[in-house]
Amino acid sequence: MPSPKTFAQRVLIWFDQHGRKDLPWQRDTSPYRVWVSEIMLQQTQVKTVIPYFERFMAAFPDVQALAQAPEDEVLHLWTGLGYYARARNLHKAAKQVANEGQFPDTLDGLCDLPGVGRSTAGAILSIAFGQRASILDGNVKRVLARYHRVGGWPGQSAVHQQLWEIAEQHTPQKRCADYTQAMMDLGATLCTRSSPDCGRCPLAADCEASAHGDQRNYPGRKPRKVLPVKSTHFLIVRSSADEIWLEKRPASGIWGGLWCFPEIDGPDAGRTQCLDLWGNEPATMEVRPAFRHTFSHYHLDITPVVVELNIVPVAVMEAAGQLWYKLRQPPQIGLAAPVASLLAQLAAPNSRTAPKTEY
Ligand code: SF4
Repeated sequence: MPSPKTFAQRVLIWFDQHGRKDLPWQRDTSPYRVWVSEIMLQQTQVKTVIPYFERFMAAFPDVQALAQAPEDEVLHLWTGLGYYARARNLHKAAKQVANEGQFPDTLDGLCDLPGVGRSTAGAILSIAFGQRASILDGNVKRVLARYHRVGGWPGQSAVHQQLWEIAEQHTPQKRCADYTQAMMDLGATLCTRSSPDCGRCPLAADCEASAHGDQRNYPGRKPRKVLPVKSTHFLIVRSSADEIWLEKRPASGIWGGLWCFPEIDGPDAGRTQCLDLWGNEPATMEVRPAFRHTFSHYHLDITPVVVELNIVPVAVMEAAGQLWYKLRQPPQIGLAAPVASLLAQLAAPNSRTAPKTEY
């Protein structure tokens, strides 16, 4: 077993030859840019994050710009990236940093920011501030669990604690920023979940899981839980002017702060709602096939109920938290992923052509 220094040295030599060095957030490693990239990279792959990061930086080049932005604009630029609590926390944290006048440069200070945990704080400290700090994101957990053959699911506190101790031991005194990036790269490109490429790995000579040929057993899997299935109907109201009725969801709960179609119990409730809100019977109603959206803790089967109303909305009909979404001139607002995809279908040519009245 090599000393911790040898482990880090080999990782760094590999990084010098093969690591990623031209990612957008590596060009200017200000705390703000590193922080935004680290939040976006949580649960999300690099190639998905790159265009979102670039659009975000173009709109909000610094923490003050993000702090002053309307929440809708922030959520709009997050649409499609998922885990929207990240965007809401980012926005809250930007206001906190702007108020305090500078970015925190300690572990405790960073962990006080909404949405920043110990690993994200470690990445910011090492990459943006050049400090010695450890990280333990999903990629690093996988590398360390395999290298040391640490059994058990990392969500269990004893396993988590053990991996943190190992991560701390391996973190070098020098070149910590490169080491942080190298460990993330190693996990993302070589020590992948389903097909670790041990033949090209700088740690293969003494990786315990590789020696035993049981890499895929590490880290241990989360105990399987069958996700419950819930169902709902989306009421999609389309006006004669090709506008769609949307409502802003409460700040907490699923899709918090995002714009969504009203949820109803079924087509009859949709008809009642049209009469209550606009005094009009739907001219047409089409119940579309249900589709499934999966959250981390349950499946949601969504049945779209599309109604057309013979009304031309006027601005005065909108209240706070409600709006007519112009399909031809979409406003910059945050949309839940299934809502964005249904709106794209509604904006397609001939999307009105096959209404079926079913009530
Ligand atoms: S040798 Fe294989 S299993 Fe071990 S760290 Fe490298 S890629 Fe992962």
